[in-house]
Amino acid sequence: QAKAAGPGTVVEHSARLEDATRTRHALENDLHAAIPQGEIAVWYQPLVTVEDGTVVGLEALARWNSSRHGQVPPGVFIPLAEEIGLIDEIDQHVLGVACRDLAGWRVHHPDLTVSVNVSARNLESDGLVTAVEDTLADTGLPGQALVLELTETAIMQYPATAGAVIEELRSRSVRVALDDFGTGYSALGHLARFPLDQLKIDRVFLTGAQGGERGEQMLTAIVELGRRLGIDTVAEGVEESHHRDALVEARCKFAQGYLFGGPAPAETIAGRLQLVGGAGSSSRRPARRVP
Ligand code: C2E
Ligand code: MG
Ligand code: MG
Ligand code: MG
Repeated sequence: QAKAAGPGTVVEHSARLEDATRTRHALENDLHAAIPQGEIAVWYQPLVTVEDGTVVGLEALARWNSSRHGQVPPGVFIPLAEEIGLIDEIDQHVLGVACRDLAGWRVHHPDLTVSVNVSARNLESDGLVTAVEDTLADTGLPGQALVLELTETAIMQYPATAGAVIEELRSRSVRVALDDFGTGYSALGHLARFPLDQLKIDRVFLTGAQGGERGEQMLTAIVELGRRLGIDTVAEGVEESHHRDALVEARCKFAQGYLFGGPAPAETIAGRLQLVGGAGSSSRRPARRVP
């Protein structure tokens, strides 16, 4: 007598696959409409000095609040957007929103910068530099206000165009960061070959399998390498105060992570900027340098 289809049977397995396929198709369809329907929001996470927690910049992070699927994580919809050719549109939307928001914040915080993530596909098409130029012109922001984050994987995928795009951006004073540093390959080769302004050291060195004492030694070495090459280093994924201690030890200047503040919607950012060094913050923090 055959067993009824239960967990682990072939029938159950293919049913789950069908579900997954249906979900993917639904996500794919709805992602096409997400920008026109205003479902892609931009949240911001502070980038701070390790020394005193001063907010020096904000990283723009895309959020999809789908009317049908709820909050879809970037780890799901960004790769999907890359696959179906929507990532240029999303990245340029985020760039536009982030620059408009920043122009508002810079009235009171004139040195504040915004960092925008750029997918590999944007290096392949020639729209990125034009989009950056147009956005800077529209918002009146100087190039120095903007940092574009590229991953090693993206640069590796289009090394020839990546070099040209980086040169063009930097000639407009826009800075370029290498994101998730330490998770890709041939990292050192890229450091020598591309004129980068910032290294964002992946959180694996603090919290991942490479964490612990070994991770901290790696961190120190990367920070030192950055210093010699004249590249600023930012540690990602700083969650605990002992992580911060490790950064002080490594002489890493900048950090990002839940310890200093997670991503938050634009409406709450002005309040956070005000809080740093203001009446609401702890007395151990000196007044912020940015007026
Ligand atoms: P990323 O650029 O490396 O961004 C940092 C990610 O780490 C963000 O995840 C952030 O929420 C998370 N994070 C921040 N602090 C901590 C911490 O202390 N601990 C831990 N565990 N995580 C922390 P998020 O927002 O889910 O984004 C994931 C990735 O999706 C981003 O990684 C980026 O590669 C991509 N992404 C997000 N927005 C965009 C976008 O507009 N365009 C493109 N092309 N990619 C984007
Ligand atoms: Mg990033
Ligand atoms: Mg990163
Ligand atoms: Mg990352």
